Amino acid sequence: MIIIGEMVRRAREILSMILFAVFSSVTGVTPPYWSRGGGASCSPCLSWRLAAETNNVEPWRTVPAHCFSCIGAYITGGQYQHDVRFVVEQIMRYAEGITVGDDGLDAWILDVDDTCISNVDYYKIKRYGCDPYDPSAFRSWAMEGACPAIQPVAELFTKLIGSGFKVFLVTGRDEETLGQVTIENLHREGFIGYERIILRTAAEKGRSAVEFKTEMRRRLVEQGYRIWGNVGDQWSDLQGQFVGKRTFKLPNPMYFVP
Ligand SMILES: [Mg+2]
Repeated sequence: MIIIGEMVRRAREILSMILFAVFSSVTGVTPPYWSRGGGASCSPCLSWRLAAETNNVEPWRTVPAHCFSCIGAYITGGQYQHDVRFVVEQIMRYAEGITVGDDGLDAWILDVDDTCISNVDYYKIKRYGCDPYDPSAFRSWAMEGACPAIQPVAELFTKLIGSGFKVFLVTGRDEETLGQVTIENLHREGFIGYERIILRTAAEKGRSAVEFKTEMRRRLVEQGYRIWGNVGDQWSDLQGQFVGKRTFKLPNPMYFVP
C-alpha cells in the first residue's frame, strides 16, 4: 500500500510538472518556484520549512542538503520577503492598538541579525544554510558592516519610535569585537533613535541565547519597562522568561540558534 501511495504521489507530481510546463508555454508566464528548481518537488522541503519555523524540528545544524534549491528559491524568489512583510503588518496592527503611557516605559525588543538587518547575502555563499555554521567566516562578514536593512522591519522600527515606544535592540553579537561595527551598520541602514542596544559582553559568554536574552529582558523589566512586543527570527529570541506581552517570529529557514 505504501508503494502504491508513493507511486500515486509521484504521478501527481509529474502531472503537475506537465501542467506547469503547458501553462508556461501557453501563457509565457513562469511560476517562480518552477523556474528556480522549486515546483511540486519542493513539497518535502516546504514541510521541513514549516516544521522548522514552528519549532517542531529537533535543534538542527544545517538545512537538509536536498532542500538547497527550494530554500534558495524561497529566499530569493520573493516569498520570504512577502512573509516578512505579512508578519510586520500583524505587528503594526497590534502596536496600533496599544495606548502608550507618558512615563517612557512602554518598550519593544527587537533582535538584530535577520530581524533588523539581513545576512542573506552571506548565507547565499553558505548555500542558504546547507553548509554548517562557520563562526570565523560569519565574523568576517559582520565586520564588513554591510548588512542591509530588512525594509519592513525598518519601517516598523520607525513607527514604534514615532509612537513613543522605547525600542531596545538585543543581540547575541559580541560587544567587544562587533559592537562598533554593528552600531554603525544599523545607523547606516536607518536604525536611529533606539533607546539602547544590548550586545553580549564577556561576562555573558558561554550562556545560551535563551539565558542571555532572558537576563537582559529581566533587567529591563526590573527597571520598570513594560515589554509590549518582542520580535526575532529565532525561537531563542522569544523563549525563556520576561518574553513580553506578545512575541513575533520572523521567518528564517537558513539557520537555527539554540
Ligand atoms: Mg536573529
